[in-house]
Amino acid sequence: MPPEPSSLAARLKAQIAAHGPLSLADYMQACLSDARAGYYAAHQPIGGAGDFITAPEISQVFGELIALWVVAVWQSWGEGEVCIAELGPGRGTLISDASRIWRRFPGLCRKLSLALVETSPALKDAQAKALAAPGLLPPTVDLSWHDDVAALPDRPLIVLANEFLDALPIRQFRRQSDQAASEPDGRKSGARAGHWRERMVSLNEAGAFAFIEQPLDGAPPKELAPFEALAEEGEIVEIRSALTALVEALASRAAAHPLAALFIDYGAERSGPGDTLQSVFRHHFASPLAHPGEADLTAHVDFEAMRNQAENRSLSAYGPMPQGEFLLKLGLAERQAQLLKAATAEQTAMLVSGINRLIDPQQMGLLFKAFVLTGRDAPAPPPFETP
Ligand code: SAH
Repeated sequence: MPPEPSSLAARLKAQIAAHGPLSLADYMQACLSDARAGYYAAHQPIGGAGDFITAPEISQVFGELIALWVVAVWQSWGEGEVCIAELGPGRGTLISDASRIWRRFPGLCRKLSLALVETSPALKDAQAKALAAPGLLPPTVDLSWHDDVAALPDRPLIVLANEFLDALPIRQFRRQSDQAASEPDGRKSGARAGHWRERMVSLNEAGAFAFIEQPLDGAPPKELAPFEALAEEGEIVEIRSALTALVEALASRAAAHPLAALFIDYGAERSGPGDTLQSVFRHHFASPLAHPGEADLTAHVDFEAMRNQAENRSLSAYGPMPQGEFLLKLGLAERQAQLLKAATAEQTAMLVSGINRLIDPQQMGLLFKAFVLTGRDAPAPPPFETP
Protein backbone atom coordinates (compact mmCIF):
# COMPACT_ATOMS: atom_id res chain seq x y z
CA MET A 1 0.00 0.00 0.00
CA PRO A 2 1.32 3.48 -0.77
CA PRO A 3 2.11 5.50 2.38
CA GLU A 4 -0.57 7.98 3.45
CA PRO A 5 0.39 11.53 2.45
CA SER A 6 1.60 13.30 5.54
CA SER A 7 0.45 16.88 5.24
CA LEU A 8 -3.21 17.84 5.49
CA ALA A 9 -3.01 19.59 2.09
CA ALA A 10 -1.75 16.40 0.44
CA ARG A 11 -4.46 14.31 2.10
CA LEU A 12 -7.21 16.73 1.04
CA LYS A 13 -5.88 16.81 -2.52
CA ALA A 14 -5.87 13.02 -2.67
CA GLN A 15 -9.42 12.99 -1.37
CA ILE A 16 -10.60 15.50 -4.01
CA ALA A 17 -8.79 13.60 -6.78
CA ALA A 18 -10.48 10.37 -5.71
CA HIS A 19 -13.98 11.55 -4.74
CA GLY A 20 -14.52 14.99 -6.31
CA PRO A 21 -14.79 18.51 -4.86
CA LEU A 22 -15.28 19.11 -1.12
CA SER A 23 -17.98 21.34 0.29
CA LEU A 24 -16.52 24.36 2.00
CA ALA A 25 -17.86 22.96 5.29
CA ASP A 26 -15.91 19.72 4.87
CA TYR A 27 -12.78 21.67 3.91
CA MET A 28 -13.16 24.05 6.87
CA GLN A 29 -13.87 21.20 9.28
CA ALA A 30 -10.70 19.39 8.17
CA CYS A 31 -8.57 22.55 8.27
CA LEU A 32 -9.68 23.46 11.79
CA SER A 33 -10.41 20.17 13.51
CA ASP A 34 -8.52 17.34 11.78
CA ALA A 35 -7.33 15.25 14.71
CA ARG A 36 -3.71 15.17 13.54
CA ALA A 37 -3.12 18.30 11.52
CA GLY A 38 -6.10 20.64 12.10
CA TYR A 39 -5.37 24.20 13.07
CA TYR A 40 -6.77 23.86 16.58
CA ALA A 41 -5.37 20.36 17.04
CA ALA A 42 -1.81 21.02 16.00
CA HIS A 43 -1.18 24.64 16.94
CA GLN A 44 -1.38 26.98 19.87
CA PRO A 45 -3.44 29.55 17.97
CA ILE A 46 -4.76 31.78 20.73
CA GLY A 47 -3.06 34.42 22.87
CA GLY A 48 -0.14 36.81 22.53
CA ALA A 49 2.09 34.22 20.84
CA GLY A 50 -0.70 32.83 18.63
CA ASP A 51 -2.45 34.13 15.53
CA PHE A 52 -5.25 35.90 17.32
CA ILE A 53 -6.13 37.19 20.75
CA THR A 54 -9.58 36.82 22.25
CA ALA A 55 -11.46 38.81 24.88
CA PRO A 56 -10.63 36.52 27.85
CA GLU A 57 -6.95 36.72 26.89
CA ILE A 58 -7.13 40.52 26.88
CA SER A 59 -8.57 41.06 30.35
CA GLN A 60 -9.54 38.92 33.34
CA VAL A 61 -12.55 41.21 33.78
CA PHE A 62 -14.24 39.54 30.79
CA GLY A 63 -14.39 36.11 32.46
CA GLU A 64 -15.21 37.63 35.84
CA LEU A 65 -18.26 39.51 34.57
CA ILE A 66 -19.47 36.45 32.68
CA ALA A 67 -19.06 34.49 35.93
CA LEU A 68 -21.35 36.97 37.67
CA TRP A 69 -23.82 36.66 34.79
CA VAL A 70 -23.85 32.89 35.41
CA VAL A 71 -24.43 33.41 39.13
CA ALA A 72 -27.36 35.73 38.42
CA VAL A 73 -28.95 33.20 36.05
CA TRP A 74 -28.44 30.36 38.54
CA GLN A 75 -30.00 32.46 41.31
CA SER A 76 -32.98 33.29 39.10
CA TRP A 77 -33.56 29.53 38.68
CA GLY A 78 -33.69 28.96 42.44
CA GLU A 79 -30.06 27.88 43.07
CA GLY A 80 -30.45 24.16 42.26
CA GLU A 81 -28.16 21.67 40.52
CA VAL A 82 -26.54 23.16 37.45
CA CYS A 83 -24.08 22.21 34.74
CA ILE A 84 -21.97 25.06 33.42
CA ALA A 85 -20.62 24.17 29.99
CA GLU A 86 -18.16 26.13 27.91
CA LEU A 87 -18.00 25.46 24.17
CA GLY A 88 -14.55 25.86 22.64
CA PRO A 89 -12.74 27.05 25.79
CA GLY A 90 -9.45 27.69 23.95
CA ARG A 91 -6.64 27.95 26.51
CA GLY A 92 -9.11 27.81 29.41
CA THR A 93 -8.62 31.42 30.37
CA LEU A 94 -12.29 32.43 30.60
CA ILE A 95 -13.25 29.38 32.65
CA SER A 96 -10.30 29.92 35.02
CA ASP A 97 -11.10 33.59 35.58
CA ALA A 98 -14.76 32.68 36.07
CA SER A 99 -13.88 29.86 38.50
CA ARG A 100 -12.03 32.33 40.70
CA ILE A 101 -15.34 34.19 41.09
CA TRP A 102 -17.54 31.08 41.47
CA ARG A 103 -15.30 29.92 44.31
CA ARG A 104 -16.72 32.78 46.36
CA PHE A 105 -20.21 31.24 46.10
CA PRO A 106 -20.00 28.00 48.17
CA GLY A 107 -23.70 27.29 47.51
CA LEU A 108 -23.00 27.31 43.77
CA CYS A 109 -19.84 25.20 44.13
CA ARG A 110 -21.89 22.52 45.92
CA LYS A 111 -24.42 22.35 43.08
CA LEU A 112 -22.10 22.83 40.14
CA SER A 113 -20.60 20.53 37.56
CA LEU A 114 -18.31 21.95 34.91
CA ALA A 115 -18.27 20.57 31.37
CA LEU A 116 -15.93 21.64 28.60
CA VAL A 117 -16.81 20.92 24.97
CA GLU A 118 -13.60 20.78 23.00
CA THR A 119 -12.33 18.76 20.04
CA SER A 120 -8.63 19.69 20.09
CA PRO A 121 -6.50 17.37 22.27
CA ALA A 122 -3.82 20.09 22.60
CA LEU A 123 -6.36 22.62 23.84
CA LYS A 124 -7.95 20.08 26.22
CA ASP A 125 -4.51 19.73 27.82
CA ALA A 126 -4.11 23.49 28.04
CA GLN A 127 -7.56 23.78 29.67
CA ALA A 128 -6.78 21.06 32.22
CA LYS A 129 -3.54 22.86 33.14
CA ALA A 130 -5.28 26.21 33.46
CA LEU A 131 -7.95 24.73 35.72
CA ALA A 132 -5.36 23.00 37.92
CA ALA A 133 -3.98 26.39 39.06
CA PRO A 134 -4.38 27.07 42.78
CA GLY A 135 -7.27 29.15 44.04
CA LEU A 136 -9.87 28.00 41.52
CA LEU A 137 -12.78 25.62 42.12
CA PRO A 138 -12.84 23.20 45.07
CA PRO A 139 -11.71 19.68 44.02
CA THR A 140 -15.21 18.36 44.76
CA VAL A 141 -16.57 20.11 41.65
CA ASP A 142 -17.08 17.54 38.90
CA LEU A 143 -15.11 18.47 35.78
CA SER A 144 -15.52 16.70 32.44
CA TRP A 145 -14.66 17.09 28.75
CA HIS A 146 -16.98 16.28 25.87
CA ASP A 147 -16.72 16.30 22.09
CA ASP A 148 -20.25 17.43 21.54
CA VAL A 149 -23.11 19.30 23.23
CA ALA A 150 -25.26 16.20 22.88
CA ALA A 151 -23.04 14.43 25.43
CA LEU A 152 -23.46 17.03 28.20
CA PRO A 153 -24.93 15.89 31.54
CA ASP A 154 -28.70 15.88 31.66
CA ARG A 155 -29.55 18.72 34.06
CA PRO A 156 -30.16 22.50 34.11
CA LEU A 157 -27.56 23.95 31.79
CA ILE A 158 -25.76 27.26 31.43
CA VAL A 159 -23.67 27.43 28.25
CA LEU A 160 -20.87 29.89 27.55
CA ALA A 161 -19.26 30.29 24.13
CA ASN A 162 -16.85 33.04 23.17
CA GLU A 163 -15.66 33.05 19.56
CA PHE A 164 -16.91 29.50 19.11
CA LEU A 165 -19.67 29.95 16.52
CA ASP A 166 -17.40 31.71 14.03
CA ALA A 167 -15.26 28.55 13.86
CA LEU A 168 -18.19 26.27 12.97
CA PRO A 169 -17.97 25.30 9.29
CA ILE A 170 -20.02 27.16 6.69
CA ARG A 171 -21.20 26.34 3.18
CA GLN A 172 -21.43 29.01 0.51
CA PHE A 173 -23.92 29.27 -2.34
CA ARG A 174 -24.25 31.70 -5.22
CA ARG A 175 -27.64 32.88 -6.41
CA GLN A 176 -28.02 32.34 -10.12
CA SER A 177 -30.20 34.15 -12.59
CA ASP A 178 -33.41 32.31 -13.42
CA GLN A 179 -32.14 32.17 -16.98
CA ALA A 180 -28.90 30.45 -16.03
CA ALA A 181 -30.90 28.06 -13.92
CA SER A 182 -33.17 27.02 -16.74
CA GLU A 183 -32.73 23.94 -18.87
CA PRO A 184 -30.67 24.18 -22.09
CA ASP A 185 -33.85 24.15 -24.18
CA GLY A 186 -35.11 27.24 -22.38
CA ARG A 187 -37.51 25.50 -19.98
CA LYS A 188 -37.26 26.61 -16.39
CA SER A 189 -35.91 23.88 -14.17
CA GLY A 190 -38.73 23.06 -11.81
CA ALA A 191 -36.77 22.67 -8.60
CA ARG A 192 -35.78 25.70 -6.54
CA ALA A 193 -32.37 24.01 -6.47
CA GLY A 194 -31.82 25.57 -9.87
CA HIS A 195 -31.49 29.01 -8.23
CA TRP A 196 -28.28 28.14 -6.44
CA ARG A 197 -24.84 26.80 -7.15
CA GLU A 198 -22.62 25.66 -4.31
CA ARG A 199 -19.07 26.97 -3.97
CA MET A 200 -16.84 23.92 -3.55
CA VAL A 201 -13.14 23.32 -3.06
CA SER A 202 -11.54 21.54 -6.00
CA LEU A 203 -8.17 21.39 -7.76
CA ASN A 204 -7.11 23.41 -10.82
CA GLU A 205 -5.05 22.11 -13.72
CA ALA A 206 -1.85 22.83 -11.83
CA GLY A 207 -3.10 20.71 -8.93
CA ALA A 208 -3.61 23.67 -6.58
CA PHE A 209 -6.76 24.17 -4.50
CA ALA A 210 -9.34 26.27 -6.35
CA PHE A 211 -12.98 27.23 -5.83
CA ILE A 212 -15.49 25.93 -8.31
CA GLU A 213 -19.26 26.38 -8.35
CA GLN A 214 -21.53 23.48 -9.10
CA PRO A 215 -25.26 22.81 -9.23
CA LEU A 216 -26.85 21.31 -6.14
CA ASP A 217 -27.17 17.57 -6.02
CA GLY A 218 -30.56 17.40 -4.36
CA ALA A 219 -33.02 19.77 -2.69
CA PRO A 220 -31.44 22.96 -1.29
CA PRO A 221 -30.60 22.80 2.45
CA LYS A 222 -33.37 24.29 4.61
CA GLU A 223 -31.10 27.12 5.81
CA LEU A 224 -31.08 28.57 2.27
CA ALA A 225 -34.83 29.28 2.28
CA PRO A 226 -34.66 32.80 3.84
CA PHE A 227 -32.08 33.85 1.24
CA GLU A 228 -34.54 33.25 -1.62
CA ALA A 229 -35.86 36.71 -0.78
CA LEU A 230 -32.60 38.28 0.42
CA ALA A 231 -30.03 37.52 -2.26
CA GLU A 232 -29.76 39.08 -5.70
CA GLU A 233 -28.47 37.29 -8.73
CA GLY A 234 -24.73 36.64 -8.47
CA GLU A 235 -24.54 37.17 -4.70
CA ILE A 236 -22.97 34.69 -2.28
CA VAL A 237 -24.76 33.54 0.85
CA GLU A 238 -23.55 31.42 3.74
CA ILE A 239 -25.23 28.80 5.89
CA ARG A 240 -24.00 26.91 8.91
CA SER A 241 -25.64 23.53 9.48
CA ALA A 242 -23.56 22.85 12.60
CA LEU A 243 -25.18 25.91 14.18
CA THR A 244 -28.66 24.63 13.27
CA ALA A 245 -27.74 21.35 14.95
CA LEU A 246 -26.43 23.18 18.02
CA VAL A 247 -29.65 25.20 18.38
CA GLU A 248 -31.68 22.00 18.00
CA ALA A 249 -29.61 20.24 20.67
CA LEU A 250 -30.10 23.18 23.06
CA ALA A 251 -33.83 23.27 22.33
CA SER A 252 -34.18 19.57 23.21
CA ARG A 253 -32.44 20.21 26.51
CA ALA A 254 -34.60 23.24 27.23
CA ALA A 255 -37.66 21.05 26.88
CA ALA A 256 -36.55 19.07 29.96
CA HIS A 257 -34.56 21.54 32.12
CA PRO A 258 -33.82 25.26 32.46
CA LEU A 259 -31.35 26.45 29.86
CA ALA A 260 -29.43 29.67 29.20
CA ALA A 261 -26.72 29.93 26.57
CA LEU A 262 -24.53 33.00 26.14
CA PHE A 263 -22.74 33.42 22.82
CA ILE A 264 -20.27 36.21 22.16
CA ASP A 265 -19.12 36.53 18.60
CA TYR A 266 -18.99 38.81 15.60
CA GLY A 267 -21.52 38.92 12.83
CA ALA A 268 -24.55 40.69 11.46
CA GLU A 269 -27.78 41.37 13.29
CA ARG A 270 -29.68 40.79 10.04
CA SER A 271 -29.29 37.99 7.50
CA GLY A 272 -27.89 39.11 4.18
CA PRO A 273 -25.65 38.07 1.34
CA GLY A 274 -21.86 38.33 1.51
CA ASP A 275 -18.72 36.23 1.55
CA THR A 276 -17.33 36.53 5.09
CA LEU A 277 -14.93 33.58 5.05
CA GLN A 278 -11.65 34.81 6.45
CA SER A 279 -8.25 33.23 6.87
CA VAL A 280 -5.51 34.53 9.15
CA PHE A 281 -2.04 33.10 8.69
CA ARG A 282 0.71 34.30 11.03
CA HIS A 283 -1.18 37.50 11.87
CA HIS A 284 -1.99 38.37 8.22
CA PHE A 285 -5.05 37.80 6.08
CA ALA A 286 -4.51 35.06 3.52
CA SER A 287 -6.50 33.14 0.93
CA PRO A 288 -8.71 30.57 2.69
CA LEU A 289 -7.25 27.93 0.36
CA ALA A 290 -3.58 28.83 0.89
CA HIS A 291 -2.57 27.14 4.16
CA PRO A 292 -4.90 24.28 5.12
CA GLY A 293 -4.44 23.44 8.79
CA GLU A 294 -1.88 26.22 9.25
CA ALA A 295 -4.24 29.19 9.23
CA ASP A 296 -7.30 30.20 11.22
CA LEU A 297 -10.54 30.04 9.23
CA THR A 298 -13.67 31.82 10.42
CA ALA A 299 -16.87 33.33 9.06
CA HIS A 300 -19.33 35.81 10.54
CA VAL A 301 -22.30 34.62 12.56
CA ASP A 302 -25.78 35.25 11.14
CA PHE A 303 -27.60 36.21 14.35
CA GLU A 304 -30.94 36.64 12.58
CA ALA A 305 -30.83 33.10 11.22
CA MET A 306 -29.86 31.87 14.67
CA ARG A 307 -32.72 33.79 16.29
CA ASN A 308 -35.27 32.43 13.81
CA GLN A 309 -34.06 28.88 14.27
CA ALA A 310 -34.18 29.27 18.06
CA GLU A 311 -37.65 30.80 18.09
CA ASN A 312 -38.94 28.09 15.75
CA ARG A 313 -37.71 25.56 18.28
CA SER A 314 -39.49 27.24 21.23
CA LEU A 315 -36.46 29.04 22.63
CA SER A 316 -36.31 32.75 23.49
CA ALA A 317 -33.52 34.84 21.98
CA TYR A 318 -32.02 38.04 23.43
CA GLY A 319 -29.69 40.38 21.57
CA PRO A 320 -27.37 40.60 19.78
CA MET A 321 -26.18 43.39 22.11
CA PRO A 322 -22.82 45.04 21.43
CA GLN A 323 -20.10 43.61 23.70
CA GLY A 324 -19.22 47.05 25.11
CA GLU A 325 -22.81 47.71 26.19
CA PHE A 326 -23.19 44.17 27.54
CA LEU A 327 -20.06 44.36 29.72
CA LEU A 328 -20.87 47.85 30.99
CA LYS A 329 -24.38 46.75 31.92
CA LEU A 330 -22.94 43.76 33.78
CA GLY A 331 -20.93 46.14 35.99
CA LEU A 332 -17.62 46.57 34.18
CA ALA A 333 -16.95 50.07 35.54
CA GLU A 334 -17.55 48.94 39.12
CA ARG A 335 -15.29 45.89 38.73
CA GLN A 336 -12.59 48.07 37.17
CA ALA A 337 -12.72 50.55 40.05
CA GLN A 338 -12.47 47.69 42.55
CA LEU A 339 -9.42 46.17 40.82
CA LEU A 340 -7.69 49.53 40.43
CA LYS A 341 -7.73 50.12 44.18
CA ALA A 342 -5.13 47.38 44.68
CA ALA A 343 -3.21 47.81 41.40
CA THR A 344 0.35 49.02 40.85
CA ALA A 345 0.95 51.70 38.21
CA GLU A 346 1.95 49.04 35.70
CA GLN A 347 -1.09 46.88 36.46
CA THR A 348 -3.32 49.95 36.20
CA ALA A 349 -2.03 50.71 32.72
CA MET A 350 -2.58 47.11 31.58
CA LEU A 351 -6.00 46.85 33.13
CA VAL A 352 -7.22 50.11 31.65
CA SER A 353 -5.90 49.40 28.16
CA GLY A 354 -7.32 45.85 28.21
CA ILE A 355 -10.75 46.99 29.32
CA ASN A 356 -10.71 49.77 26.79
CA ARG A 357 -9.97 47.30 24.03
CA LEU A 358 -12.99 45.19 25.05
CA ILE A 359 -15.47 48.08 25.03
CA ASP A 360 -14.08 50.69 22.62
CA PRO A 361 -16.47 50.93 19.64
CA GLN A 362 -13.44 51.20 17.34
CA GLN A 363 -11.97 47.97 18.72
CA MET A 364 -14.08 45.07 20.05
CA GLY A 365 -16.94 47.02 21.64
CA LEU A 366 -19.28 47.07 18.65
CA LEU A 367 -17.92 44.32 16.42
CA PHE A 368 -18.49 41.61 19.02
CA LYS A 369 -22.00 40.99 20.26
CA ALA A 370 -23.65 39.08 23.08
CA PHE A 371 -26.57 36.83 22.20
CA VAL A 372 -28.50 34.67 24.66
CA LEU A 373 -30.88 31.75 24.18
CA THR A 374 -33.11 30.50 26.99
CA GLY A 375 -36.03 28.17 27.43
CA ARG A 376 -39.26 29.94 26.51
CA ASP A 377 -40.65 30.35 30.02
CA ALA A 378 -37.37 31.33 31.69
CA PRO A 379 -36.89 34.80 33.18
CA ALA A 380 -35.01 37.28 30.95
CA PRO A 381 -31.27 36.87 31.54
CA PRO A 382 -29.39 39.96 32.72
CA PRO A 383 -28.92 42.58 31.38
CA PHE A 384 -31.76 41.95 28.92
CA GLU A 385 -35.37 42.87 29.48
CA THR A 386 -38.27 40.57 28.70
CA PRO A 387 -38.98 41.01 24.99
N1 SAH B 1 -13.28 30.60 23.59
C1 SAH B 1 -11.85 30.70 23.46
C2 SAH B 1 -11.30 30.09 22.16
C3 SAH B 1 -11.90 30.50 20.87
S1 SAH B 1 -11.17 29.64 19.49
C4 SAH B 1 -11.40 32.12 23.63
O1 SAH B 1 -12.24 33.00 23.62
O2 SAH B 1 -10.20 32.36 23.79
C5 SAH B 1 -12.34 28.37 19.13
C6 SAH B 1 -12.37 27.21 20.11
O3 SAH B 1 -13.37 26.30 19.69
C7 SAH B 1 -11.10 26.39 20.21
O4 SAH B 1 -10.98 25.94 21.53
C8 SAH B 1 -11.39 25.23 19.26
O5 SAH B 1 -10.59 24.09 19.47
C9 SAH B 1 -12.84 24.98 19.58
N2 SAH B 1 -13.64 24.32 18.55
C10 SAH B 1 -13.74 24.65 17.26
N3 SAH B 1 -14.66 23.87 16.63
C11 SAH B 1 -15.15 23.03 17.57
C12 SAH B 1 -16.15 22.01 17.58
N4 SAH B 1 -16.81 21.70 16.46
N5 SAH B 1 -16.41 21.39 18.73
C13 SAH B 1 -15.77 21.73 19.87
N6 SAH B 1 -14.82 22.68 19.93
C14 SAH B 1 -14.51 23.31 18.81
